[in-house]
Amino acid sequence: MSNDKNAAKKAEMIARKKRVQRLKKMIVATIIIFLLLPSILCVALWIRLARFEKRYNDFLKTNEMQYAKMKKLEDEKEEKVEKVEKEEKVDGKALAAEVESTDPVPTNIPEVEDQTLIEGKKVYLTFDDGPSQNTEQILDILKENDVKATFFVIGHTDEHSLDMYKRIVDEGHTLAMHSYSHQYAKIYKSVKAFAKDMNSLSDLLYTVTGERTHFIRFPGGSSNTVSAGDMTDFIRYANRVGYVYFDWNTINGDATGQNLTDNEMINNVMSNVNIFTNSVVLMHDCAGKEQTVKTLPKIINKLKKKHVTMLPINDTTPLVQHIKAEDVGE
Ligand SMILES: [Zn+2]
Repeated sequence: MSNDKNAAKKAEMIARKKRVQRLKKMIVATIIIFLLLPSILCVALWIRLARFEKRYNDFLKTNEMQYAKMKKLEDEKEEKVEKVEKEEKVDGKALAAEVESTDPVPTNIPEVEDQTLIEGKKVYLTFDDGPSQNTEQILDILKENDVKATFFVIGHTDEHSLDMYKRIVDEGHTLAMHSYSHQYAKIYKSVKAFAKDMNSLSDLLYTVTGERTHFIRFPGGSSNTVSAGDMTDFIRYANRVGYVYFDWNTINGDATGQNLTDNEMINNVMSNVNIFTNSVVLMHDCAGKEQTVKTLPKIINKLKKKHVTMLPINDTTPLVQHIKAEDVGE
């Protein structure tokens, strides 16, 4: 009996030992799997990353090549235009159109050229804050392109400025007033102060050019919130003395304080010209606004291509006013 008991005990012990060994094997296998799996995943990921890197490099390379190609075409175009401009100055021949038609047209230049004509639309180019060191160049560009514009000037008495007032009038542009001092605190202090400031400018311009203008642009526009007084008081005064004021519905963005690219500046104008029948474009004629001078020929060129009429402001110009004069009255 005791022998049987012993044998049973032994068998049980062997069975337990086997169970423990199985368990041990399972634990070891599990540990191995947990250790190996991340390594395998890592290798797989690394292979994929390497493939991706190669594809990305290939993409960059083709992109760079495309960019270099585009840049070369642009440079060639600029060189040609410069050359033509020089030649034009020498013999007065207008070769620009010819060059344009023979230019290779790169397909992937970011600027989108809208080919639709917008005939019947009118654009009034206006320049505020002059005369300045840029006035001469602006006038030259307008002259070369046979375009008349409007200058909302401020008061200066130096010789160059006096010459510029005269040139503006002599060359058929509209000389208009923007205030003598352009100092908001001073001119908007009271209607009396505003009147005095405007009268000083009117007298100065009359002395220099022999003409008085009734076109004005309020510094900051009729809707400006900088004025300490109520703008309707100043509008009422303008109505009373017969001043006709113009605000704007289009800007090139030269006073936004943002670093615009040339294309952005040009597109600012072109996109609005598409919207309005009459666009009054606000630009600035003052130091630091050289980009306005630089982009002006391009804007004029684009407007001409679209058969838009560019005019100086006169008594037939539809009013563009942020606060309407007729709503305020006298
Ligand atoms: Zn101004």
